[in-house]
Amino acid sequence: PSVPEIAALQHEDVALLLPEPVGESDKYRRGVVGIAAGSARYPGAAVLAVAGALRGGAGAVRYVGHAGEAVIARFPETLVHAGPPAKAGRVQAWVVGPGLGDETGAVAEILASDVPVLVDADGLRPLDASAVRRRSAPTLLTPHAGEAAALLGVDRAEVEAARLASVRELASRYGATVLLKGSTTLVAAPDGALPVRANPMGTPWLATAGSGDVLAGLTGSLLAAGLGAYDAGSVAAYLHGLAARHASAKGVPITSYEVGEALPGAWRDVQ
Ligand code: AMP
Ligand code: MG
Repeated sequence: PSVPEIAALQHEDVALLLPEPVGESDKYRRGVVGIAAGSARYPGAAVLAVAGALRGGAGAVRYVGHAGEAVIARFPETLVHAGPPAKAGRVQAWVVGPGLGDETGAVAEILASDVPVLVDADGLRPLDASAVRRRSAPTLLTPHAGEAAALLGVDRAEVEAARLASVRELASRYGATVLLKGSTTLVAAPDGALPVRANPMGTPWLATAGSGDVLAGLTGSLLAAGLGAYDAGSVAAYLHGLAARHASAKGVPITSYEVGEALPGAWRDVQ
């Protein structure tokens, strides 16, 4: 009862949490993110998730999936691996789900890893609550209202009408941190001991295809840098909204790729 139910994320909170490289940093200490996203049908989701991760300060990104060529064409610095996630080598956090379509085989393997895992989009469909609950490392689920409704087995309208209760219920059911996307994105910790954080920085210009994929990669880079799931989700949502505001500065439509490209400006604003 002494914990407020909901707390608006403040600029100063984000500034304190932002990971900065130190003099001795190397790419491994800055965080290596594994990204299992994209498919032959949806290669762009992989590119956008990698964009979010690299612009979010990852020391390196290891990509696994069927969109390696598209990823390399845009981001030649990505380490592309064929085959299952285990072949990718060591990472400090995994992002799994954007644009996988039906190719969701990597989800179970990644959930069995001992590093923080973010599950988004198509990765949320085959999600097994007991597999998530069994994990030894933090899990962060990032559904929009439709995906949250499917996880809860209710209609989307029910989630929209009770977003706070829905995000808390999901966090407790899965024993995971849950970031419920929307015009006001909410972040709930698994045990209910912390207030649900509300991100005030969203903009409806973010309602465009692929913006959630950028958010997933960005959040993954913060997890890999060592932020907890609750902080990583909150900071990422804030930077993502701010980047979209930068990109649409004159009130113009933006693409999700441009949101990724605007992340450095958002980062500078909160430093
Ligand atoms: P997704 O649905 O996975 O593509 O993610 C969409 C992203 O855009 C999420 O980060 C949402 O929070 C954000 N978003 C969508 N619609 C709005 C809106 N009307 N106002 C602010 N943010 C939005
Ligand atoms: Mg999405």
